[in-house]
Amino acid sequence: MKAAETRILELRAELDQHNYRYHVLDEPSIPDVEYDRLFHELKALEAENPHLVTPDSPTQRVGSAVLTAFSKVKHEVPMLSLGNAFEEAALYEFNQRVVQTISPLPNDLFSGVNVEYTCEPKLDGLAVSLLYVDGRLTRGATRGNGTVGEDITENVRTVRNIPLRLMDGGWPSVLEVRGEVFIEKAGFERVNAHQIEIGEKVFANPRNAAAGSMRQLDSKISGRRSLKFCSYGIGQVQRDFADTYYGMLQKLKKWGVPISNKLRLVSDVEGCIAYCRDMSEQRLDLPYEIDGVVFKVNNIASQRELGFRAREPRWAIAYKFPAMEELTELLDVEFQVGRTGAVTPVARLKPVKVAGVTVANATLHNMDEVARLGLMIGDTVIIRRAGDVIPQVVQVVQERRPTHARAVEIPQTCPVCGSQVERTQLIKRSKGKETISEGAVYRCVGRLACGAQLKQAIIHYVSRRAMDIEGLGDKTIEQLVDEKLIGSPADLYKLKYEQIIDLEGFAEISSKKLLKAIDDSKQPTLARFIYALGIPDVGEETAKVLARSLGSLDRVIVALPEVLTYLPDVGLEVAHEIHSFFEDEHNQNVIGALLGECQMELQDTGDLGAEFAASATLGGMLDKLNIPSVGPGAAQKLADKFGTLEAVVKADWLDMRQTLPEKQAQAVRAFFDVAEHAQRALAIEQQLKDFGMHWQSEKKVVEGLPLAGQTWVLTGSLELMSRDVAKEKLEGLGAKVSGSVSAKTHTVVAGPGAGSKLTKANELGLKVLDEEAFVGFLKQQGVEVG
Ligand code: NAD
Repeated sequence: MKAAETRILELRAELDQHNYRYHVLDEPSIPDVEYDRLFHELKALEAENPHLVTPDSPTQRVGSAVLTAFSKVKHEVPMLSLGNAFEEAALYEFNQRVVQTISPLPNDLFSGVNVEYTCEPKLDGLAVSLLYVDGRLTRGATRGNGTVGEDITENVRTVRNIPLRLMDGGWPSVLEVRGEVFIEKAGFERVNAHQIEIGEKVFANPRNAAAGSMRQLDSKISGRRSLKFCSYGIGQVQRDFADTYYGMLQKLKKWGVPISNKLRLVSDVEGCIAYCRDMSEQRLDLPYEIDGVVFKVNNIASQRELGFRAREPRWAIAYKFPAMEELTELLDVEFQVGRTGAVTPVARLKPVKVAGVTVANATLHNMDEVARLGLMIGDTVIIRRAGDVIPQVVQVVQERRPTHARAVEIPQTCPVCGSQVERTQLIKRSKGKETISEGAVYRCVGRLACGAQLKQAIIHYVSRRAMDIEGLGDKTIEQLVDEKLIGSPADLYKLKYEQIIDLEGFAEISSKKLLKAIDDSKQPTLARFIYALGIPDVGEETAKVLARSLGSLDRVIVALPEVLTYLPDVGLEVAHEIHSFFEDEHNQNVIGALLGECQMELQDTGDLGAEFAASATLGGMLDKLNIPSVGPGAAQKLADKFGTLEAVVKADWLDMRQTLPEKQAQAVRAFFDVAEHAQRALAIEQQLKDFGMHWQSEKKVVEGLPLAGQTWVLTGSLELMSRDVAKEKLEGLGAKVSGSVSAKTHTVVAGPGAGSKLTKANELGLKVLDEEAFVGFLKQQGVEVG
C-alpha cells in the first residue's frame, strides 16, 4: 500500500486540478461523485494523519484562485462552503454536535433538546454576493476562493429577478445579499440548443451553464441565458435586522429579494429528515436541478455560538442526494435502425448505478453528437440521468483515454439488411436560393426490404393511434417478419388462419380474433391511414391536417410541396418529406396494394377543408415562390395590380416598375425569365385550381368550420367517450385541442377529477362545460355521440 503521505500529495495535486477546472474554467472533466470520492479519501487520510494537514490542502480551502480577467473583490465576511451528509445518520450526528454546543447539558439529557432548523433546496449553480448600498445594487461578485472573488457586477445586472433597487424600506444602508445564480432545466435545454446551432461548446449540466454564463466577460451573453437568482443568506451588514435565519429571509423577501418557495421551518432534526424525503421525491419534478437540501440552525445567536471550521460553518449542513452523473466505460457503440431507416448510434456501457438505477445503454442521437463529444470506444465517459429521460453521455474524460481506444465509425452498410447506408441531406430554400448541406442522420436505403424498418413500420401501422389492430404485439410482428410471412403492411390482410395459429402464443380463439381485428381495420379514416403510413416527420397532428385540408388521399398523393405549405404548421422540409414519400415507387406499390387487393376503404369526405380553400391568395402564392428581395408586401402589390399569375409572369418590366421599386421589379422579371420558375409557378396554380380553389381577392380566412380558430382544452376524465374521441370530434368541427389552458383558450371541457387546468380556467373566467353539456353541444352541431 502506498504510504499515506504520498497518496495525500497525489490526491491534493489531483483535486487542485479539478478545483481549477470546476471553479475557474467552469469545465470539470469528472463528475461530482468522482470528485467527492477523491475528496473524502483525502479527508479520511488527513483525519488519520493530522500532522500532515496543511492550510493549502483542498480540505481546508474553498473554491480556487480567481480568474485574472475580472477585477478582484475582497469579501469582508468570507464566503464559505458547506459540510456534507450523505446519509440520514450523518444528520443526527450533526444535530448532536449542534445540541452539545448550544446547550451544554449532561449527555443523557441531550436527547430532549430540540433545535429549530430551516430547510432549503440546495440549488446547483454559482454562489454570488450582491452588495446593496442605500438600497441600490452596487456590486456583484463570485465566491472565488472565499476571501477574494471576481467582480461580475455587469453580469448580475442581467439576471432578471435580481432587484437593482430594494423595495419597501427599512433595509440597512449596507446590505450584502448572498445566494445562488442558477438556470432552470428548460433554460438549460434552450442554451444548449442555441450553442449547437452556433457551433459553440455545449454545457455538460445546468450548473456549468449557470456558472459559465455568469463568468462571461460579455454581459450581453449572460443576459440571454435566462438565469435566476435565489437568496440564502447575507454577508456584511451595517446593522442586524433579524434574530432568526427564517426571519432574515422573510425580510429579504419583503425587500424584493427572491428566496426559495420551498423554504420551511422545522422544530427538530426529525423535521429535517422528513424534508429530505419529501424533496427527494419532488426532485425530478422541480423546474430546476437540486443536488441536495441544506439545513441551517435557525437562531442567529446560536449560529454565532457554533461558529466556523476551516471551510464551512458549524451551523449548517448539506444533505446530498444521489448524484445524477456517474463515470463508466464505453464498451462499444452499436447501431440501431429505426422506422424511417435512421441508423442511430447507441452506447453500450459498463453497467453502473446512477441514482439507484443501473444504466447499461445510452442514446448517442446521431453521428454529429458522437463527433461533438469526441467519443472513442474504450473511453471513460460521464453519463447523466436527467428526470425520467434516457441516460445520456455528456462528456468524455480525455485524460483517461486508454491507448487502445478506437474511433466510432458509421457502418457503410445496414447492420440488419446489408443495404447501403447514406447520409441524409438538408435542403434549405430561401429567397430563390437552394442550399444543400449534410444532415446529421444516416439512413439505410433498404426501406421495407430491411427487417428492422419493416418491423418498426408494421408496429407503427397497427398501433392504437394508427390502424388500431388489437392482438398484434411487437413479438408477433417480429416473428411474422422473421418468418417472411409479411413483407409490407399490405401482407397483413393476406394472412391466413393456418399461418396465425402456428405463431407463438396463438390458439384458435386468438387467431380468429386477430383475423377479425385485421379485417375490421379496413375502413380507417383518412387521417389514421396517412398517419399509419409512417411518413417521416408526419405525426398524428400533421396527418389530421392533411386529411382535413385536402379531403382525399388522391390529393395528398399528388400535392406539390409548395401547395402543402398552405396547410397550417406544414413547413417546406416536411412538405418535401411528404411529397417524396408518395413519389417513391415502393411506397406507391404498398398503397396500391392496400387500396386494391386488400380492399381498404378510406372514410374521407372528399371535400377540400374550408380553411384551406380560403387560404389561397395570389399574393400569398407569389410570396411562397421566394423571389429574391420580394416580401409579402411586394407580393401583395403584384397580386393587386395584375390579378392573375399569368399576367404577372408575362408582365414586362415597365409595367412592373409602376407597382414596385426598380430593384424589386427587376428581381421579379429576372425570376420569371427563368423558364423553370415560370413553369413551376403555373404548375402550382394549376394544382390549386384542380383542387377546386380560387384566388381570394383578400387574404382573409373564411370561417368555414363552426369552431375554426377556437382552441379547446379537455381535462379530467370523460365517461361517455374517450379523450381521443372527444379530441377527434372537436377537430372535425375545426377547433384546435390544446393541452394547456391560457387566456386564448375558448372553452374547457372538464370531467370529474379535473384539477389545476379547471382552476386556471375559472381564474381566467373561461367558458367551462361538463361532459353532459359538452355532449349536448356536440349534438347541436350535428355530431353523433356514442
Ligand atoms: P457545495 O456545492 O457542496 O456547497 C456549498 C455551496 O452550496 C455554496 O457555496 C452555495 O453555492 C451552494 N448552495 C446552494 N443552496 C444553498 C443554500 N440553501 N444555502 C447555502 N448554500 C447553498 O460546496 P462547494 O465548495 O461549492 O463545492 C464543492 C462541490 O463542488 C462538491 O460537491 C464537488 O463535487 C463539486 N466539485 C466538483 C469538481 C469536479 O471536478 N467535478 C471539482 C470541484 C468541486
